[in-house]
Amino acid sequence: MLRSVRVRLTLWYLLVFGVLLAGFSLAIYLKLSRDLYSRLDRSLLNAARTAAASFQTETSEKGGNARAGAAEALVEMRFPESYIAIYQGSSPLASNYPEGEHPVIPVDLSYVKQSSTPIFDSVPGFGGDGARQVLLPVKAGRGDYMVLATEPLHDFAEQLESMRRVFYLGLPAALAVAGIGGFLLARKSLAPVVAMSNQAERIGASNLHERLTVGDGADELSHLARVFNELLSRLDRSFESMKAFTADASHELRTPLSIIRGEADVALSQDREALEYRESLAVIQDEARRLSRLVDDMLELARADAGQRSLRIQEFYMNDLIDDCARAVQSLSLKKGIRIDLRPSSDLPFCGDEDLLRRMILNLLDNAIKYTPDAGVVTIETVQESGSIKIAISDTGAGIPAEAAPQIFDRFFRVSQSRSRIEGGAGLGLAIAKWAAEAHGGNISFVSNAGAGSTFTVTLPSDTRTA
Ligand code: ADP
Repeated sequence: MLRSVRVRLTLWYLLVFGVLLAGFSLAIYLKLSRDLYSRLDRSLLNAARTAAASFQTETSEKGGNARAGAAEALVEMRFPESYIAIYQGSSPLASNYPEGEHPVIPVDLSYVKQSSTPIFDSVPGFGGDGARQVLLPVKAGRGDYMVLATEPLHDFAEQLESMRRVFYLGLPAALAVAGIGGFLLARKSLAPVVAMSNQAERIGASNLHERLTVGDGADELSHLARVFNELLSRLDRSFESMKAFTADASHELRTPLSIIRGEADVALSQDREALEYRESLAVIQDEARRLSRLVDDMLELARADAGQRSLRIQEFYMNDLIDDCARAVQSLSLKKGIRIDLRPSSDLPFCGDEDLLRRMILNLLDNAIKYTPDAGVVTIETVQESGSIKIAISDTGAGIPAEAAPQIFDRFFRVSQSRSRIEGGAGLGLAIAKWAAEAHGGNISFVSNAGAGSTFTVTLPSDTRTA
């Protein structure tokens, strides 16, 4: 039961509320009893002072006879609650105490003699509740006397007792009401969480597109639902792209595999000339090459996605790397009569993953040559700007239609499926190039006018170690 957040919240609430309520009640009780005592002490002192004044007057009227003065003073003295006694030393001269009750002198009277201030004390007696007394030194005639004013505490005790009763009964009742209220409140506040977890429980791989209901408020629960929905959207997107990737990958793999199988089947269906076998094997070799390039590309991207492809950073000259790449695609460009215009650049020392950047540049050059008609021109220009290096590869090819622009860097995307396949691409070249640029803290962009060629520009920070 304690595992339930509702119960735990209620218990915590009760604990805090109970401690506060008990502390508050105790403070009220103490304050009230102190006020009652001080009011009592004031009324006792008033009674004692009145009695002392009367005692002094009566004693002087009786010619200095203190006993007669005391008796006379007390006959006139009647207070509703207080009783008075007048002492000389420890012997009472007179008192108006009720029958059977005896005044109690709280302290040593020899000490009291020297004292000129009243002494307050609580004493036992008076029906079990005790009494409050004040002892007031007084001079009458030529003698020192004490006036003792006493008030029984039963009224006082009754008031405190009734207040304690209120607390004893009220505290548990208040706690019970607070507990029920707290539990209902906790249940109401947690109801959206319960609803959310029920909804979330129903979401699985087959219905990842479903979302939690988000309240219209800006509270924590709406925020939680929104965050959870964003997480679901991210999962949904990556799940969808994984599904698309798997579907595209199997589609791409199926084509060369079926060509290889078909070619082998045809070659083996009957005895053939050596030349025919040679031709079939050449087709098979071609498709096998395409397959292994495709698998390499897919592996590279899968490793990049899994974060397993860390950069192997080293120092090299970017201009040398670009020269190498231009040389590597020369035979391809010569076949189509395409001129490669490599604009000269100064030495550009660079720090990065040379192999990955080589692959990126080769992919861009390969595309530029593939998608440019015979006798076209491919231009490579490298410029150093403050803090970055820009590599621009332009061609005089067919360009990229505007509607294809948003997807051009997507995996397996080809503007014209049939044409690209003839050219040998699977639609992974630009995805790898984009990843390579971004892994170095840079970016890749392109401008293209249909029919007027394309320019792909890679911008890399000069020092990728700070990227
Ligand atoms: P592929 O391996 O098919 O070339 P890429 O990812 O390299 O795949 O390119 C994706 C698509 O973008 C290509 O199929 C092609 O249609 C288009 N494309 C890429 N570069 C160029 C370019 N320089 N000129 C025209 N189209 C291009």
